[in-house]
Amino acid sequence: MPQGVRGRYWHMLGDGRIQCDLCPRLCKLNEGQRGLCFVRARSGDEIVLTTYGRSSGFCVDPIEKKPLNHFLPGTAALSFGTAGCNLTCKFCQNWDISKATAFDRLQEVASPVAIVAAAARSGSHSIAYTYNDPVIFLEYAVDVAAAARAAGVKNVAVTAGYISDVAREEFFRDMDAANVDLKAFTDGFYRSLCSAHLAPVLETLEYLKRETSVWLEITTLLIPGRNDSDLEVATLSEWVVDRLGPDVPLHFSAFHPDWKMQSTPMTPAATLKRAREIAEKAGLRYVYTGNIHDEAGQSTYCHDCGACLIGRDGYRITAWNLDASGRCSACGFALPGVFEAGPGVWGPRRAQVRISSVDGDATP
Ligand code: SF4
Repeated sequence: MPQGVRGRYWHMLGDGRIQCDLCPRLCKLNEGQRGLCFVRARSGDEIVLTTYGRSSGFCVDPIEKKPLNHFLPGTAALSFGTAGCNLTCKFCQNWDISKATAFDRLQEVASPVAIVAAAARSGSHSIAYTYNDPVIFLEYAVDVAAAARAAGVKNVAVTAGYISDVAREEFFRDMDAANVDLKAFTDGFYRSLCSAHLAPVLETLEYLKRETSVWLEITTLLIPGRNDSDLEVATLSEWVVDRLGPDVPLHFSAFHPDWKMQSTPMTPAATLKRAREIAEKAGLRYVYTGNIHDEAGQSTYCHDCGACLIGRDGYRITAWNLDASGRCSACGFALPGVFEAGPGVWGPRRAQVRISSVDGDATP
């Protein structure tokens, strides 16, 4: 019988199966079966999370790597994930973690308190729930997030936003920022490459913008021939302007051949730059390129006077022209986002961190 911490968001069906209601897949499980995400399983008359308290490892990353460009720029984020995923993206760039089924990668035992202490020790301003989708380890993520908030450490969710409406409130309750993957703007893409649907992701984006104070940025990985047409980029951008507003930063990042799409070429830099132009023309004010070298496309400019507010070279901040309240030093225009009086000093470094709970058991 699978072991784990009692999960939330499920109910018993009339035919004896248990339905998981955490994500739109609504897996229906008989005794001993696991959901598509692999980490949630039926154990007796309940669903358990089998990965509570165990991580695939911890790294201190620049917050820009999440990517978040308008949330505490230059600061460090203690980043971790677990195993499994509730999407099956054939282009997954973290497949060694998200597709892990044997838990052989889950080396670290880490209680919420130990993680928050490590964040403070490492000088991290935030904890990032990333590498695989934190939706599937909700019970663990929300416990860590609550402990972090109590200690004054911020929380950042990096997610595909594939979560049921009943679970959204709890999942995002203690999050301060989120980067949501909007993988494409057609249901056909979601169906054929991720075995999922577009609509729940759009609902999550609208929920975040309308019903929470979570700082929101969006990432779209542009894959040659799959989601990179001018029409699709324009339609996606227009939807963001119309439904979320022009101030939500949008990141277009480059695909690298990976997982089950080894024969698809890497996204040309020109595609990303063209997408940025299209999105800006649609009305978005803060559009970025990612996974390529493009200082102009990764810096932040004042929407009012055009001054460079935050210069970036990769994950390094090269210019800072905001005053202490996050306004343009030249014209006083307020840059949307969450800023401190100056930039952080973490830079582009990536540092591995070991966090082992003293008693070797992180379950509540
Ligand atoms: S969270 Fe996992 S078990 Fe639950 S519905 Fe989604 S894929 Fe299935």
